[in-house]
Amino acid sequence: MRLYEYQAKEIFHGYNIPVPRGYLVKEKDQIEDALKFLNTKDGIALKAQVLAGGRGKAGGVKFAYSPDEASALLEQIKSSEIGAYKVSKILFEEKVTIQEELYLGLIIDPVAGQPTFLASSRGGIDVEEIARKFPHLLGKMNIDLTYGILDYKVREILTRVGIPKSLFGQFISISKRLYEVFLDYEAILIEINPLIFSEEGDLVAADARMSVDDAALFRRPELKELRDSQEKSLEEHLKDDYQLEFVDLQGNIGVVSGGAGMTMTAMDLIALEGGKPACFMDCSANVSPEGYEMALRTVSSKEGVSSILVNIFGGLTRMDQVGEYLVEAIKKIGDIKQPIAIRLEGTNAEQGRRTVEEAGFQCYETFEEAVKRAVELGRS
Ligand code: GDP
Ligand code: MN
Repeated sequence: MRLYEYQAKEIFHGYNIPVPRGYLVKEKDQIEDALKFLNTKDGIALKAQVLAGGRGKAGGVKFAYSPDEASALLEQIKSSEIGAYKVSKILFEEKVTIQEELYLGLIIDPVAGQPTFLASSRGGIDVEEIARKFPHLLGKMNIDLTYGILDYKVREILTRVGIPKSLFGQFISISKRLYEVFLDYEAILIEINPLIFSEEGDLVAADARMSVDDAALFRRPELKELRDSQEKSLEEHLKDDYQLEFVDLQGNIGVVSGGAGMTMTAMDLIALEGGKPACFMDCSANVSPEGYEMALRTVSSKEGVSSILVNIFGGLTRMDQVGEYLVEAIKKIGDIKQPIAIRLEGTNAEQGRRTVEEAGFQCYETFEEAVKRAVELGRS
């Protein structure tokens, strides 16, 4: 579960991690109170509270230098869409003046079973972009849970990635507090990007991204309450409301598949055929007709998808039903532009295939054939 920036910053504040003073604004008539509460001498940052990254580029972060400007920008941001999100909450913050933008992150290394510490002197851009453009300026180490964050190890990394020595003390103490947050909240990811090195010489967490482990939420019911049902992330919406497991990827082949193992295999087979999956959409047992519709709708409306692979195997799930659900869903959506390669196998598969073929779609015998065809269709 991902937290909003303002929620994560409230947590940070409770752990003495420096964050800009902020005030959450929903309606115009709160602006006056917000500006009274904040020190406005260097201006105000207005930040759309949505569960998407890259708000800066999408127009979700703006700066105001007068009350009038603040109210105009509030309207502007509220009427915009960031990613697929409507904006209903905006964080007003004291603008921090930047000397440098740094990066600090903690994630889980699932292979090592340890948290990973990440730091860079090139914050303000995505960590993926840092890794691509300045790999030597992105430092990384795993944290041994027995010892926690060790000063000398962090110092070694900070030196290597070119962070000024004068900041080491602050950087290390923020890292340690962030690590406490990470453990206390059973987080799977926390990022401060940018961690601003201000004109005044302080480090300030200007942005906060934090996701906690869904499987641990039962231990922290107060976090679950933070989840705002109207504004789930797409992944959460698909999972909570349709039992679909969705992972967004970068390629061009939309995958709708049954079961995590088979979906993973589809990823591998697509790669083997020289293609790239656009997503991982797992429709396991008990997906409803609406679920199949939602799966196809999501995949076909995703940018860059040029073909769709539907590969379902049913043991308990009856494929005659799935065949009907698929045909119904495609009809209902109406305007799927991409070609679809379908393979149905398992209980009552023959009947399912007949239903699909009678509706004008081709079914493929084997998993390999269907994948091959999807990759070909995606190319042309
Ligand atoms: P994101 O684009 O969703 O990651 O949103 P951020 O909160 O990281 O803001 C994007 C960019 O806006 C940052 O990298 C900064 O360059 C800038 N920014 C954000 N907050 C401040 C601030 O308080 N002061 C200044 N000067 N720039 C800021
Ligand atoms: Mn950011």
